[in-house]
Amino acid sequence: MKLTFLGTGEACDPTRPNTSLLLETDSDFHLLDCGFTVPHAFFGHCLDPEQLKTLWISHFHGDHFFGVPLLLLRLWEMGRKGPLQIISGVAADEKIWAALELAYPNFRERLQFPVCFTQLKPGEKFRYRHLDYMLAATVHSQPSFALKIEKGNKSFYYSGDGRATTEAEELMQGCDLIVHEAFTLEDRMETHGSIASCLSLQKKSRCPKMALVHLSRQTRQEQGPLAKILSEKQRIYLADDGEQLIL
Ligand SMILES: [Zn+2]
Ligand SMILES: [Zn+2]
Repeated sequence: MKLTFLGTGEACDPTRPNTSLLLETDSDFHLLDCGFTVPHAFFGHCLDPEQLKTLWISHFHGDHFFGVPLLLLRLWEMGRKGPLQIISGVAADEKIWAALELAYPNFRERLQFPVCFTQLKPGEKFRYRHLDYMLAATVHSQPSFALKIEKGNKSFYYSGDGRATTEAEELMQGCDLIVHEAFTLEDRMETHGSIASCLSLQKKSRCPKMALVHLSRQTRQEQGPLAKILSEKQRIYLADDGEQLIL
């Protein structure tokens, strides 16, 4: 599995695309979250309209799904024919069609490829194109889910937004990579992760590598404390836009 960080920013960061991951396996692409700024970054990596097979949406804040209308528009423009599978923890169809209607009125009828929706429940395993998807709720200001993707003996975990619940901590156990949001430096928001809480999660999960994303603009400016924490902990680091990892 090849993982590309299309973006590592939070909603308002003017210097980074919204946090989004692109997973490549067997020449298939799987996109994890698609915020305002993500389609442009995605199409910088993908010029084959059929290659994207699934889109995971962690939750329905704009920096995680408001890019979907543009994604669908561009795939249409490129002549896509095959189905696109959208996977989420809450029902996505009404929200996606409403966003598309606002962005491009009456465009839905012109889409020449099927958009299919799968709502996953905690505890379930969904297998699609050789990947196993599992989720767990996080604590965020709206329903939000962390995702574990497994292929053979390799797996990784993506937090989406929010603090880890006990179920999320269980889900990340044994993963080869954890990608986690760390909005603040210290633990001071009930609905977001922090660098401090990620340090403790990494220790508990015994995961060999943790990449941090979705830091607030203020947190990124705390250069001194950030550098100190990250230089001491080799297994935890700040992911960068465009970075690629092989799992
Ligand atoms: Zn959010
Ligand atoms: Zn967000």
